[in-house]
Amino acid sequence: MNSSHHYKNPLISFTNYSKLVKRERIIHYPRAAVTIMPQPHFIVVTYPAQGHINPTLQFAKHLIRIGVRVTYITSISASRRMTKVPTAEGLSFLPFSDGYDDGIKPGDDTDHYLSEFKRRGKDAISEYITSSENEGKPITCIVYSLCLHWAAEVARKHHIPSALLWIQPATVFDIYYFYFNGYESAIKAQADETNPKCSIKLPGLPPLFPRDLPSFVIASNVYQSALSLFQEQMDVLAEEPNAKILINTFDALEHEALNAIEKFKTVGIGPLVPSSFFNSKDALDNSLRVDLFQSDSKDYIQWLDSKPKSAVVYVSFGSIAALKKQQVEEIARALISSRRPFLWVMRNRKDRGEEEKEEDKLTCREELEQFGMVVPWCSQVEVLSHPSLGCFVTHCGWNSTLESLVAGVPMVAFPQWTDQGTSAKLIEDVWGTGVRVSTNEEGIVERDEIVRCLDVVMGDDEKGMEVKKNVEKWKGLAREAAMEGGSMDMNLKAFVDDVSQGYCK
Ligand code: UDP
Repeated sequence: MNSSHHYKNPLISFTNYSKLVKRERIIHYPRAAVTIMPQPHFIVVTYPAQGHINPTLQFAKHLIRIGVRVTYITSISASRRMTKVPTAEGLSFLPFSDGYDDGIKPGDDTDHYLSEFKRRGKDAISEYITSSENEGKPITCIVYSLCLHWAAEVARKHHIPSALLWIQPATVFDIYYFYFNGYESAIKAQADETNPKCSIKLPGLPPLFPRDLPSFVIASNVYQSALSLFQEQMDVLAEEPNAKILINTFDALEHEALNAIEKFKTVGIGPLVPSSFFNSKDALDNSLRVDLFQSDSKDYIQWLDSKPKSAVVYVSFGSIAALKKQQVEEIARALISSRRPFLWVMRNRKDRGEEEKEEDKLTCREELEQFGMVVPWCSQVEVLSHPSLGCFVTHCGWNSTLESLVAGVPMVAFPQWTDQGTSAKLIEDVWGTGVRVSTNEEGIVERDEIVRCLDVVMGDDEKGMEVKKNVEKWKGLAREAAMEGGSMDMNLKAFVDDVSQGYCK
């Protein structure tokens, strides 16, 4: 895109960058003679998982819209699985080889995978920065998502600003921050899983019980390398004189959490969800929608069309979580006894590189399918926006949580691990947009408990009505945040101005 084309784009006139360019076309700096302001060129780099790709592509979309050129970087393992690669004017897609081009498989050494991803990712980004510079399209800023703090080191080496795009709740960012900054022993001592009634109070956050904490900070965490990644991320930010932290949330949703840390300024630039949730047509949404999983048919939309308003239970545990066989049976039995129409996303085992096993087949599949549909993947945007939806039984992945909030669908919060317990806490206790299931001593949610939660959110007793009222309230606030001139728009433009001006000096 040349700069004359760029001047004509009315959407960029909101940034100082474009105001300067529009007004003078030529910028005079005190010491430089005459400089033409180049089009900002951002790298957005992401881990190759569906829940990371979706919000980062939305972020890239908003950057493009305000006149930024974006190079979107992830690994070949993701691009090989994509049903189509993201394309848009102003976006270049640059997959690199992390040495696991067919994806990481069960039994692979995760630590080796992560270290190769880092080593090869650093090289790929560094080379790209140099070649872009040589081609006269220098990089203005690197925005990196979760687990990729090493991208900030690459940026520093090249004297380019960087920003973290945090794709979990601000509350979770804060918990990790406090954990690594003075509260580790307090969290470990007070929020002890063997004493689930014992809570911890961290600055600016509601009291948190063990089940509300990210699973990596609780005593029984078996994923020490995941916890180290968060520690390294906090260390990298601490070294930055003016760390830039963008969070996929919005001011109204997590106001206290966004202001809980004195040392860092965190900025809500969400909700990063497709515009079709807001009933607005956006051609970029389709060209930037990427699925790493195949859905077998579109029949489920016709099936939803045939159902009454607010009648269907949608069940999905996202793109990673794998439930125990016993848990899957309990959900199936609950859906049968609840006798409500349902749409259940049950991913194929082969998508996780595993064999389909006979013993994993549901014992009640035939009976179950009398009431609803089981699909291996779906367009969640279309499903959540469908008028027949009555509730979402969700694992509380942050994207699913935000999508449900924006679509105005009550939730049955059924968290599994990582940040999901914290999102479940926010859903039930802070926003009141759903109810949370309780597990038995073996960690299984029994069928009666699932039916109880479905009855609450789908029913019209006092609690159900309160949930529906809250759902409408948050849907409205999410829309306000996402509309032109809303907090997302303003914060994103301020960020782009900030890093672009720094770059020109
Ligand atoms: N998703 C989808 N179709 C499905 C299941 C999930 O499009 O059948 C999308 C969903 O809309 C969300 C993402 O996959 O944007 C999952 O991200 P989330 O953070 O909810 O969970 P994760 O998969 O990271 O655990």
